[in-house]
Amino acid sequence: METWDKNLCSPAVVKELLAKYRLAPQKGFGQNFLINARIPQEIAKASVPEESWNSSFDQPLGALEIGPGLGAMTRHLSALYDQVIAVEIDRGLIPLLEETLADCTNVKVINQDFMKLDVPAFLQSRFGDMPVHVCANLPYYITTPILMKLLEAQRPSRPPKICSVTVLVQTEVADRLCAPAGSAAYGAITAAVRLAGTAKKLFSVSAGNFLPQPKVASSVVQIQLYPGGIRDAIDDLPLEDDALDIRIEKTKELISLGFAQRRKTLVNALSSVYAREAVTAALADLELRADIRGEKLSAEQFVALAGRLS
Ligand code: SAM
Repeated sequence: METWDKNLCSPAVVKELLAKYRLAPQKGFGQNFLINARIPQEIAKASVPEESWNSSFDQPLGALEIGPGLGAMTRHLSALYDQVIAVEIDRGLIPLLEETLADCTNVKVINQDFMKLDVPAFLQSRFGDMPVHVCANLPYYITTPILMKLLEAQRPSRPPKICSVTVLVQTEVADRLCAPAGSAAYGAITAAVRLAGTAKKLFSVSAGNFLPQPKVASSVVQIQLYPGGIRDAIDDLPLEDDALDIRIEKTKELISLGFAQRRKTLVNALSSVYAREAVTAALADLELRADIRGEKLSAEQFVALAGRLS
């Protein structure tokens, strides 16, 4: 087996490989390849849980990469994790990845559209009981749907199968994920992330580090999922797991209605589903103004409101 010894982030190597396999970066698949070797290395390193650096840590760890591209980050993940699954939509890249990852025996590349996967079943079949860390340079055109799909794959009442998500995204999205409640950048995705874990911006990556160059700046953001599920973060939740999962489903519905028309008061935004008097009474119960807008409520307040409206 040949060991790959070229720099997969050198623009010359990227161009040579694409030419060899008669490929060109596909805009429709959001293909902006990293051309600074330090960046995939730093992202992969940041994705590894701190506790695993301890010499007594002996639990096998799995990494899930969405969109390996030419395999630059995949090779680092292969060195850091026991098992790596990389899901790539572009069939044309599969033979190329077979070449660039030939010596990475713990990597399996799956040619699939991530958005079409049944994520819980996929994780169970590929990783078994192994905890999984997601690490990726996400295609810009579906960043939010991918993040939502990853979060939706978890049962709020249970410890998550996916422990963390470390991704390179547009800076605007990174800012949104980390925004405090009530700020201009705070949105439905921010509140949805808070139901699953905490988000933190790690570092920025300028457009010149990609081929082709995107028009926007990018940042690496990390979501650490609550290790014990949502009970780690919010008090006064139902004791029964099923009741808690139902409460969080209802919370997500309120968030999506509350943010669908940001300029409306929450009472108006929810009026297609809930009686105005019930929402006003629930808000009063939570010591919130009757004319408050959804964008002012924290995830915790949305959870409490869902409890009052049950
Ligand atoms: N990881 C590589 C890098 O950092 O250079 C490539 C990152 S590029 C921004 C995004 C990658 O995601 C591409 O390889 C693209 O083909 C792949 N991709 C796009 N949509 C996808 C989907 N729905 N499912 C799986 N992979 C997808």
